[in-house]
Amino acid sequence: MRVGIGSDVHPIEAGRPCWVAGLEWEGVDGCAGHSDGDVAAHALCDALLSAAGLGDLGAVFGTGRPEWSGASGVILLGEVRRLLSAAGWTVGNAAVQVIGNAPKIGKRRDEAQRVLSAAVGGPVAVSGTTTDGLGLTGRGEGIAAIATALLLPAS
Ligand code: MG
Repeated sequence: MRVGIGSDVHPIEAGRPCWVAGLEWEGVDGCAGHSDGDVAAHALCDALLSAAGLGDLGAVFGTGRPEWSGASGVILLGEVRRLLSAAGWTVGNAAVQVIGNAPKIGKRRDEAQRVLSAAVGGPVAVSGTTTDGLGLTGRGEGIAAIATALLLPAS
């Protein structure tokens, strides 16, 4: 078994569509970035790559692979899943926590868990928290996420 960790932060941009945990959140300002800015999907990608010893998002989808520039978080997770499988790993389980004032994850937790679990091919738990008004997430400047993953050898 192998465990991994990942995290991500993106700045919020007023009026931008909000994609978090594979879902679009109506009425919430989204994150800036090349892609859909899905911090939860990105943190989860990094946790999975970390567990497999395959590096990180920058190494896997960086300047050497421009075809991935702008891809959605769920599409990136699908490619990470393919890389894990090719390296002989399957997802035991994973967890991702979104840190920010909005969106309120609990309202659509089941839906988010279904989307992310389907993307990675194993159970993904999704949770949310705030920082009680402190820091960049508390001031509404950004959204953060932290993730862990457990991989099992594919049989
Ligand atoms: Mg990111």
